[in-house]
Amino acid sequence: MKSAQNMPEPKIHLALTDDWELRGNGSGDMRQIQFNAIRELQRIYNTYGVRSTFNVEVMQQLTHRKRQGEFPELGRLADEWDEHVRDAFKSGQDIQLHVHPQWSDARYEGGRWTLSGDWSLPNYDAETAHEMLSASKKYLEDLLRPVDPAYKVVSFRAGSSSIAPSDFALGLLVRLGLVFDMSIVGGLRVNTRNLSMDYTYCDEDLLPFYPRMDDARKVSEKVEPIVCVPIFHFHLSRAQATRQVLAKMGQKVRGKLANGDKRGAPGDKFAVDEWAEIGRSSRLARLYDKAIKPCLAGKHSVADIGQLDYPGLQAMIAAIRKRGRSTGLAEVPIILTNHSKDIKDFSAIERFVSEASKAADIRFVTLTQLAENLRAGKFPIRTDAGS
Ligand SMILES: [Zn+2]
Repeated sequence: MKSAQNMPEPKIHLALTDDWELRGNGSGDMRQIQFNAIRELQRIYNTYGVRSTFNVEVMQQLTHRKRQGEFPELGRLADEWDEHVRDAFKSGQDIQLHVHPQWSDARYEGGRWTLSGDWSLPNYDAETAHEMLSASKKYLEDLLRPVDPAYKVVSFRAGSSSIAPSDFALGLLVRLGLVFDMSIVGGLRVNTRNLSMDYTYCDEDLLPFYPRMDDARKVSEKVEPIVCVPIFHFHLSRAQATRQVLAKMGQKVRGKLANGDKRGAPGDKFAVDEWAEIGRSSRLARLYDKAIKPCLAGKHSVADIGQLDYPGLQAMIAAIRKRGRSTGLAEVPIILTNHSKDIKDFSAIERFVSEASKAADIRFVTLTQLAENLRAGKFPIRTDAGS
């Protein structure tokens, strides 16, 4: 067997993506957590000549449009949303489809949203799911084709990553003409009041593969009409996880001081209310999960660039190169995620993008470029034929 050192240095096709949206329960100020964030990311990407992709959540926008007759302020926000998406697209960024189905049952009262729809796409019936996805896709194509008549939605990112298992979700993407799905994150497991899913065991967590049509966690035995490309994940060492925990605690304290009370920043409250693991609702259990366990054992980390500090981003790139080399392939596509609504400090991302843009083995690609390359057969797409 060849040792890793003798393996050729692969060219990494790195797709930066961002789930661009309000918080999962509909809270947050769009101008602050979406519009400011997309402007700042665009500034960074334009500075270093990098093209990325914004996975814009469209059910939120459709809901704003639906209610704008009663509430003119929602129409103004929706108009600004359109402008920001169009501006990003005009400046060379890609726009692709992200859908949070909980917006399908939304109430607006006193300037606040209450979302009662189920968070998980597989929990809907196939026709309702089709209506949501096709209306969202149409909205994006109607918005962007006046800028570029060739614009197409080619990829899908499910809200909260929830796509598998489902006997219809992947078929729906095929029906809509999409090239690939990017909802699978190897090792991710969630069990909260809003969501339950388990990606602990995924057949393929790195490279493009043909999924079994009823369960994207499994590789199909044959070529299928859609491809899955996982989001990268890696193991953050104990030292790095400890540093991240301390930094987050510092951020929390500063948030509380800035808010002048004990409740902390709105994002902190959202995380506790909506993302607490079932059975881990006591403060002590949460403290153990979030602060103590990672310091003892390191932690599974999704390649979410807004959640990582600069050393965390360096560890992520090292993990990408290591796993890329281990494939023995000359070219390896890698997708990173981001949730710009949560970014408190853009400087780590800027430093990371600046350095990666100069690296000889990294080429930034949009999801549209990734789809073209998949179609052109540039990357092998795994099947489990004969296994
Ligand atoms: Zn999302």
